Amino acid sequence: MIIVIKANPTDAQVQEVEAAVRSFGYEPRTIRGVERTVVACIGDERKHHTLETLTILPQVEEVIPIQKKYKLVSRESRKGDSTISIGNLRIGNGTFHVVAGPCSVESLEQTIAAAKAVKRAGATLFRGGAYKPRTSPYDFQGKGREGLDYLKQAKAQTGLAIVTEVMAPEDVELVAAYTDVLQIGTRNAQNTPLLTACAESKKPVLLKRGFASTIQEWLLAAEYICAGGNEQVILCERGIRTFETATRNTLDVSAIAVAKKESHLPVFVDPSHAAGRVDMITPLARAGIAAGADGMLIEVHPNPAAAWSDGAQQLKPEQFEKLMKDIEPFVNVCGKKLAATG
Ligand code: PEP
Ligand code: MN
Repeated sequence: MIIVIKANPTDAQVQEVEAAVRSFGYEPRTIRGVERTVVACIGDERKHHTLETLTILPQVEEVIPIQKKYKLVSRESRKGDSTISIGNLRIGNGTFHVVAGPCSVESLEQTIAAAKAVKRAGATLFRGGAYKPRTSPYDFQGKGREGLDYLKQAKAQTGLAIVTEVMAPEDVELVAAYTDVLQIGTRNAQNTPLLTACAESKKPVLLKRGFASTIQEWLLAAEYICAGGNEQVILCERGIRTFETATRNTLDVSAIAVAKKESHLPVFVDPSHAAGRVDMITPLARAGIAAGADGMLIEVHPNPAAAWSDGAQQLKPEQFEKLMKDIEPFVNVCGKKLAATG
């Protein structure tokens, strides 16, 4: 940390800051410039009291961190890309994986039809929500445990690995017994008891970015999971809330590039929840791929017009098939290969 002191401090004011820094367990090094006096604080910020508290001293102008707050997810801790194994799939090794399926699992027939369709088109993982975080309490809340059973049957019939959302720490054990990947949704992206419970489960986690999270907050959420003993985390950019209303959210393409630079974790793009509309899925998918995504998540429904949630953004099976063809050259030009289905 660097503490910037306001202009023309007295010696006593500087000494007061130095004493406070020492009392927090750091070694102060004071640099007196013509205009400004700054105190560099030597010590590991992660092991001590936060020096940010010192902004309450009237002579302190600013306290500036110089170390990154996240450690395990950072490229500083691992130079190469980390890869995640899900059954015999490898995520983050240069193959591009597509997670596809309906927003919600609604019935066994709908689930199986969706799973077969996305497999046929080349998806390697099947998604579908059994527990749905809905904005309105009057909207469909998901099939719960029954929905988990549909997902299990979809896996049995197609062999596709399953990705499904878990919303509450107390549900993690149950959901983990049915799924290959636990999804943490945007509304729960900073729910620390949930992040910790998912860490304890040791299952791979797909962590969506909170719709109002900074990239640092997103990476710190991933850090919770890693620090809890589970380094199998896939980051997923799904759009953030901005002033724009033409799309449901604004896909933050730069966040994909920044996350790839800052972290060794695989990063996926979710154009479905970003766009909220079918006609924007292909361009946003391509943009995410160009920014460095290692995979993508797409909502596909056998009959989107009859979907119980997110109907406007779900692709019909034939639209998904076309999307898979339309993205392939982009995946290749970015030096990756579409994962082959088994
Ligand atoms: C979903 O994947 O269906 C979902 C609810 O996503 P998000 O948390 O990104 O809104
Ligand atoms: Mn959805």
